[in-house]
Amino acid sequence: MTNRRVFILQSVIGTSVLASGAAMAAAPMVAETDANAKGLGYVADTAKADAAKYPKHTAAQNCSNCALYQGKAGSTSGGCPLFAGKEVTAKGWCSAYAKKA
Ligand code: SF4
Repeated sequence: MTNRRVFILQSVIGTSVLASGAAMAAAPMVAETDANAKGLGYVADTAKADAAKYPKHTAAQNCSNCALYQGKAGSTSGGCPLFAGKEVTAKGWCSAYAKKA
């Protein structure tokens, strides 16, 4: 990897850490252990979704392309009406996923 690529990656990572820090100050993150998160099969990383329990899940589905996601484009986390007062991760997933039109 070239130094330039490393620099770009560090910039991207730095920016997203700052962004998620700001988001966390606004609202706490949903924990996978929360009762409603468990009920909906929410995971902070769509790759960790329970494939046996949710056979319709695909790796391409995540909160950022879900119709219910309220985060801005490019955000690392955002609100979801199913988890009032908390934020879900952009790469998260739950069984109520509905593809954004
Ligand atoms: S409804 Fe959509 S945005 Fe909300 S947690 Fe489930 S997949 Fe994510």
